[in-house]
Amino acid sequence: MPIDANDRKLEIVTDIPDTAMVVCAHADDAEIGSGGVVAKWVAAGCEVAYVLCTDGSAGTADRSLTPAELSEKRTVEQRAAADFMGVKHVVMLGYPDGGLEDTRELLGDIVRAIRRYRPRTVLTHDPYRIKHFQHRDHRKAGIVTTDAVYPFARDHLHFAEHIAVEGLEPHKVRELWYWGADEPDVIVDVTDSIDRQIAALARHESQVPGFNVQAGDTIGERLRRNAARLANGYGFEYGAVFRRLIARR
Ligand SMILES: [Zn+2]
Repeated sequence: MPIDANDRKLEIVTDIPDTAMVVCAHADDAEIGSGGVVAKWVAAGCEVAYVLCTDGSAGTADRSLTPAELSEKRTVEQRAAADFMGVKHVVMLGYPDGGLEDTRELLGDIVRAIRRYRPRTVLTHDPYRIKHFQHRDHRKAGIVTTDAVYPFARDHLHFAEHIAVEGLEPHKVRELWYWGADEPDVIVDVTDSIDRQIAALARHESQVPGFNVQAGDTIGERLRRNAARLANGYGFEYGAVFRRLIARR
């Protein structure tokens, strides 16, 4: 069943966390999945960290680029996008694009990032989406992040070396937000930040050939159209929707 925003079924969330983390598979996923919310939260003083799982070495139709060249280009673009957004920390895990697996190593890396940057809210891909195709890496990133949040980052006996050797402390994430959910349950007003989301997306030049914010290109227009459809009936112009899990106290 399509989301019927007119029914106002989604809870409008106006609270802004003081710390947040976005975990995504590829450069540009963060901007597409949660850019409007992150831009809004950063503007309100939230400290945000990005964790990028892959090196983006497969994301092109340009056959003249080697995977190494592409990966380097995408790393630079992601840093530019994060800087533009005011994202404070960017962690690049460097797993091969298209090769993300649900491994102990990836789990440990995400747990470490959570324990280091201590986000109140974590945003990631919804790994349980079944109504549309989804990149394998997105599914893997979503599921491992879910596990990292609970219980692995929280419990001191998991990855105990983080605590004993690296000087980190366990951390309890309060809320986990999934973008791309089949059935979202919360909506955020991104009317004032969608321009910033689209402008940040334009930093990923290799991914959006010919992208021009001023001219209002297809990706920008598509984001805007979608965000306007989601906001319909909620009393604001543009919305971003998520499925939210809240940890028990
Ligand atoms: Zn992706």
